[in-house]
Amino acid sequence: MITPRGVNGYNRMRPYETLVVDVTYRCNSPCAYCRWGSSHTERRADRNLEEVMVPHESLRALGTRRVVLSGGEPLLFPDLAQVLAYYSAVVPERVVISNGLLLDSGLREKLLAAGATGS
Ligand code: SF4
Repeated sequence: MITPRGVNGYNRMRPYETLVVDVTYRCNSPCAYCRWGSSHTERRADRNLEEVMVPHESLRALGTRRVVLSGGEPLLFPDLAQVLAYYSAVVPERVVISNGLLLDSGLREKLLAAGATGS
């Protein structure tokens, strides 16, 4: 689901300046309080690229300045670098919300090279 919403201090921005995109409904963590927890996600799947790549013309029309890639755990999404590169063309800030379990220096460099500006 794609929802315009405020995130932390960002909620002072205009409603559509931050776009949150859930790229997958899978997660590798078993957080008991979370509906995406790995113990509850046997039949959950990644979303397809058409769903997670909002058309550039729509982003321009909305005035989107930040995209937040979330999930589930977005580092499980196999095409995350492609999605970051896609949003780099029109959105100044690209943030990945991750639990960090898969993150190492190599993946960090790959995400930065693909266009991530924060996590
Ligand atoms: S790491 Fe995040 S998305 Fe995954 S189960 Fe825990 S709270 Fe949910």
